[in-house]
Amino acid sequence: MAVTSWYKKVQEGGALTVTAGSAFKGGHWTSVLDGAISTFNKLMTENGVKLALSKAGDAKNAHIVVEAAGTKAGFSYAGTSYSATFDGNGLHGSTTPVADGRGFFEKAFVFVPATPRVSPTDKRSREAGPEVRRFILVHEFIHAAGLSNDEHTNDDVFCYPGQIDGGSRAADDRIEPWGGLGKPMPPYTLIAKTVTNLKKAWP
Ligand SMILES: [Zn+2]
Repeated sequence: MAVTSWYKKVQEGGALTVTAGSAFKGGHWTSVLDGAISTFNKLMTENGVKLALSKAGDAKNAHIVVEAAGTKAGFSYAGTSYSATFDGNGLHGSTTPVADGRGFFEKAFVFVPATPRVSPTDKRSREAGPEVRRFILVHEFIHAAGLSNDEHTNDDVFCYPGQIDGGSRAADDRIEPWGGLGKPMPPYTLIAKTVTNLKKAWP
């Protein structure tokens, strides 16, 4: 995969709408969505990328549908069905775009873990705090903007893998690039490589 653009009318408009799907519920997630959109938009503005997200529409009409998933992530849309196993206790999301007949994105489904945990393999560990969730959403919005796993970095919010820097309280939990290659976020950062790739999708 490489950088992919949205279909022309959307690309020229520089705007994508985001809506919460029916499984995206619970205060831990719903309370961070607006903040994640603001953080994403600030990163785009600061780096001169012609894209802004706004919360609007319903699952049928929005460009990006955000869902929280437990053991399975799936959707049906315009004749496309998708289903995959998913780790609802994990610390990263998954974005599946749907392309039109010419290969341009026309819809994107973002899945986030329903119960991200500070120790994903320990179901008794507590759920991760709001900054961890914001990180997960901002990262997936970059995928929804057109970047694939091939464009991952080592050291910004588009890093893979990230690792948790767990606090004594959920409010202090952070995600940071793996191996000390970057700093815990916030502040959220984009390196030049990610900005260049975003500008390819949003020229
Ligand atoms: Zn990713």
